[in-house]
Amino acid sequence: MKLLIVEDEVKTGEYLKQGLSEAGFVVDLAHNGLDGYHLAMTERYDLVILDVMLPDVDGLRILTSLREAGKEVPVLFLTARDSVDDRVKGLELGADDYLVKPFVFAELLARVRTLLRRGANHAAESGVGIADLKLDLARRRVTRGGRRIHLTAKEFALLELLVRRQGEVLPRSLIASQVWDMNFDSDSNVIDVAIRRLLAKIDDDFETKLIQTVRGMGYMIDMPDGRL
Ligand code: CA
Repeated sequence: MKLLIVEDEVKTGEYLKQGLSEAGFVVDLAHNGLDGYHLAMTERYDLVILDVMLPDVDGLRILTSLREAGKEVPVLFLTARDSVDDRVKGLELGADDYLVKPFVFAELLARVRTLLRRGANHAAESGVGIADLKLDLARRRVTRGGRRIHLTAKEFALLELLVRRQGEVLPRSLIASQVWDMNFDSDSNVIDVAIRRLLAKIDDDFETKLIQTVRGMGYMIDMPDGRL
């Protein structure tokens, strides 16, 4: 899951980025409104954390522009304690939730998870899956054929990406940017190694192989031969 933080206070921004990265998210941080707006318009995020008080373009203006451009990404905005107006306005403009500064990180993390879950519910379930493979997004658990499979945070993120976009061939460059927050270097075999580890856990003990390598293109999760 990839998040964008738009926060001009450097310390707060770095602190949030670190905490959310440790929680297993890929995080981009913009230190001003214009950069934040540009990133939100061009990259694909699962959630945007948007500070209202920004020196150049304020958060409410950014939110308005995103919604006008048809961007449905969930937005959690950060507001000062005394600005009830901002809170009301933000929700009216299409923000999904707000948090009043100062806040504790645990609360932010809980709100982020709730919003992401709500997004998943929107897609009709609180979990996603394919065939007998199920991902419980809230509890970060994976089962196949009812059997629990233990994954690392990165493996879970990789599997979630594949499953959410099942049937679609995902190039290594896309996987790199969405799961590792890095630009893909064709000499690196990080992704291939990670896929092999994931495959060993997900497919090795099962007759139906779900993860497929598409030579020269990337990886995909799908039912073989389109069987259901
Ligand atoms: Ca600020």
